[in-house]
Amino acid sequence: MKNKLVEHVYIHIPFCLRKCGYCSFYSERFSLEKKRNYLRFLRKEIALRQQNLELKPKTIYLGGGTPSLLSAKDINSITDCFDLFQIEEITLETNPISINKDYAKDIAAIPVSRISLGIQSFKDEELKLLGRLHNSAQAETAYEILREIGFNNISLDLMYGLPNQTLEDLQFSIDKFIELAPDHISTYCLSLADDVPLYPLKSQIPMDEIVSDFYFLIREKLLDAGYVQYEISNFAKPEFESKHNLCYWDDKSYLGLGPAAAGYLNNARYTNPSDFDKYFQLIQSKQILKNLEKLNTEDHEKEFIFLSLRKTEGMNLKEFKLKFKMDFLKKYQKSVVKFQQQNLLEIENDFIRLTPDAYFVSNEIFAEFM
Ligand code: SF4
Repeated sequence: MKNKLVEHVYIHIPFCLRKCGYCSFYSERFSLEKKRNYLRFLRKEIALRQQNLELKPKTIYLGGGTPSLLSAKDINSITDCFDLFQIEEITLETNPISINKDYAKDIAAIPVSRISLGIQSFKDEELKLLGRLHNSAQAETAYEILREIGFNNISLDLMYGLPNQTLEDLQFSIDKFIELAPDHISTYCLSLADDVPLYPLKSQIPMDEIVSDFYFLIREKLLDAGYVQYEISNFAKPEFESKHNLCYWDDKSYLGLGPAAAGYLNNARYTNPSDFDKYFQLIQSKQILKNLEKLNTEDHEKEFIFLSLRKTEGMNLKEFKLKFKMDFLKKYQKSVVKFQQQNLLEIENDFIRLTPDAYFVSNEIFAEFM
């Protein structure tokens, strides 16, 4: 049987120096010993998964956790496991406190082409509340160092909807982001799971109508500043869209590596265990390859709708027909007409897409197709 071609790889680096108060991602407290051990198992996982795949990465995304706790040599020891002959983008998520001139120089000398910098806010009170380790001055310095060293594809994270946040607070951060002129901005609306330390502050998160105003303020300011919105939460200067993240919304196969990483191979999903010991055991026993859950056509169709409609270009109706052997507009005629009348969906040429009015309430629209 021909091996499945996979062109996108996500690698989870599950370490942080300290847990932020809102974070639900899997990560452990960093230690050199844990890191060394983890990298050994990660390389084993890569070797195991390569056996069944034709792996030709176009994009690699090192996410976390805090991937910038890895040295350039560590990162190289991971990327060296892949044949990079057609690589287009390697993203490294970084924490502002990891960035100094020496580190920036080191990572500029390896094949990392894109930096995602977890700034979140330029208000020190907000950063403190979130439990971030950096302050606004450190964030700005980190950004400037990366630019000075020559990184020409930098994405910044901006968080909104924080407890007691005002429009003015948010405006302050947005203005600072725009002043720095990164190539890409990812926005995140804070949500607090019931097991995170900040959960008791959930009631202080502004009401939905206000958070919606926050979202549209960000959108308006970034569009005015020349950014293109290509996904509900993502903005880029022309041609600086995240190639890796587009693979998720484009229904492409991707490999997920490391604890808690999710993968999607040939319409089958898997998620590695969010626990070091279980992860190590599954690799030792080679059972890690058996954790696949095949999506049935109905589930695949729902995912395709949900993910495609997140893109501002929308869902290609011809592609839908080709994949699922049915006409989307016929199948969902009632819902489509309803949302068109409410000016929440529009159809143009072969695409159906959310209108901007729908972006903040997109989940309610997706639910209708689920
Ligand atoms: S640095 Fe990122 S992954 Fe680590 S605790 Fe904070 S938000 Fe979570």
